[in-house]
Amino acid sequence: METSERGRASELFEELGGIVSDGFPAIHSPVHRTGAGTAYLKVPGVVMLAKPRTNVAGLGGFLEGFDPSSGFPAYVDDPTKLPDSSQLCKTSGQLCYMSFGYRRTTNENAAAYFERLTSAGHGSVLEHASFSFLLYGISRSVTHELVRHRAGVGISQVSQRYVSGAVLRFVERPEYQNDPELHAVFEERADRAAAEYEAMADRLLERQEKGAAFLDAEYRTDARKKVQQTARSLLPNETEAPMVFTGNVRALRHVIEMRADEHAESEIRNLAVRLFLCLVTADPILFGDYQLQALSDGTHKVTTKYRKA
Ligand SMILES: Cc1cc2nc3c(=O)[nH]c(=O)nc-3n(C[C@H](O)[C@H](O)[C@H](O)COP(=O)(O)OP(=O)(O)OC[C@H]3O[C@@H](n4cnc5c(N)ncnc54)[C@H](O)[C@@H]3O)c2cc1C
Repeated sequence: METSERGRASELFEELGGIVSDGFPAIHSPVHRTGAGTAYLKVPGVVMLAKPRTNVAGLGGFLEGFDPSSGFPAYVDDPTKLPDSSQLCKTSGQLCYMSFGYRRTTNENAAAYFERLTSAGHGSVLEHASFSFLLYGISRSVTHELVRHRAGVGISQVSQRYVSGAVLRFVERPEYQNDPELHAVFEERADRAAAEYEAMADRLLERQEKGAAFLDAEYRTDARKKVQQTARSLLPNETEAPMVFTGNVRALRHVIEMRADEHAESEIRNLAVRLFLCLVTADPILFGDYQLQALSDGTHKVTTKYRKA
């Protein structure tokens, strides 16, 4: 990644409140409340929960088993330290041609190595490194789009059947936030949705309890589930739907390319830009071909000439 490009990404990461804690980047999202106390968020929160840890030294016993003239054992002593995710993918790619000897691409030239792979569409080695994120401050409509990405991802999303109205929060669309009238209507709608959900849940629970006077513990959980799975039908698309999202680098690159594109829907673009900023902070090499560009409305898009590696 060019220095100016890296600078732009780290500037935006900081501007959006990005922090790095013990090597894990995060961009948190503050919680707001309506006058009546209904909680809502205005931007996506993205927290990197997990990233690869690579044991290069572990290759030693394998590499020492070849002719000493190969120079293979020196592979583990490369003086340039890479992010573990880059190292894992580079080592995996180099195994294909047993490129561990004197003429191998050293870690110093890892960026050029990955450029050769991504420009040729040889993205399978990028599948070895995975990152997991907590995503919150995202609406049910955005997560409906995100879960369309099937290849190379794992998803655990809040269950509206199991959690109660006590954790109900809403997400305000970017378009409403600077328009006093639309903002006020959003807050009214959030209050109304929270109140209607609670009232409906109370009515349903009352009926459920009348039907079964002696509930055992298991049955009580079942009753609550039945109440919530029914009451949720009146929740709007702007209900918050947090998830843990895991993707390998090949899949994550595809999500960024599709969703941080200027034609993507604005809320999911905000999310994809934040995902990119956390990823490029953790590994500036695997995401080093990306360019961040400001759009006329003050938001950003992310592009690369090596799409769909
Ligand atoms: C701007 C925009 C507008 C959209 N509008 C609509 C819309 O109006 N309606 C709608 O339904 N969807 C819409 N989508 C969703 C879109 O059609 C895809 O479902 C979504 O982007 C997931 O991407 P993907 O298909 O590349 O799947 P991913 O799961 O991300 O897969 C990545 C790649 O793996 C390969 N792959 C994955 N699964 C298979 C498979 N089963 N068989 C063969 N190859 C596979 C493909 O090459 C695929 O591109 C829109 C998406 C965007 C970005």
